[in-house]
Amino acid sequence: MTGNLQQKPIGLLGGTFDPIHHGHLRLALELYERLNLAEVRLIPSANPPHRESPAVSAELRLEMVRVAIDGLQGVVADGRELMRSGPSYMVDTLKSIREEEGARPVYMILGMDAFMNLHGWHRWDELLNYAHILLVRRPGKLLPMTHVMRGFLDLNRAKTLDELQIRPSGKIYIEDIPPLTISATQIRGLLATDRNPRYLLPRPVLEVINTHQLYR
Ligand code: ATP
Repeated sequence: MTGNLQQKPIGLLGGTFDPIHHGHLRLALELYERLNLAEVRLIPSANPPHRESPAVSAELRLEMVRVAIDGLQGVVADGRELMRSGPSYMVDTLKSIREEEGARPVYMILGMDAFMNLHGWHRWDELLNYAHILLVRRPGKLLPMTHVMRGFLDLNRAKTLDELQIRPSGKIYIEDIPPLTISATQIRGLLATDRNPRYLLPRPVLEVINTHQLYR
């Protein structure tokens, strides 16, 4: 199958979003603009299979994503993982998006931290059947990578973005983005110790957190 050049690619950023913060949002917006994407979809994981269950419900995490991007051109929330029961496997999500999108190029956006653990994901070796992987490296960070992931990267790596635009799936491309060293862990830590996380996340997200007394 060849990609449809008439269709701009879409980007997918899956995450726990517990809570969503400016690191996620700058990443999404930066990629939307730089790579001329149709849109970037933020996809909260309902039941993350590879980490402890989040304390905050999937519904509230999706709600925080929605209020964070309200009115923002190019970035949308996609709640499909909340419709499925059981562990939220990315391979199932990519398959359902592929069924909807035909031959449109789809980029699964992954931070390098997530990529290094990819070989632990359910049916990880099928992910490239459904999407490309857009790897986001934060400048200055060197990567100690396992043999398996190094081999996977070398085998599938594209040198130019053009290689991704002409096919629906199957390639890995690395993009450097300006770093924002914000993490959800840091924000939860601040809230748990009664400190103020303002300026790390959008104000409407903080309002949801305060209304529901989350992370205290
Ligand atoms: P936690 O601290 O709970 O592990 P997190 O802040 O890393 O959470 P996730 O929801 O796990 O957020 O991240 C979803 C995706 O966003 C991952 O691919 C991750 O690499 C990426 N990401 C998270 N924070 C940043 C950031 N500050 N800059 C760029 N990418 C980020």
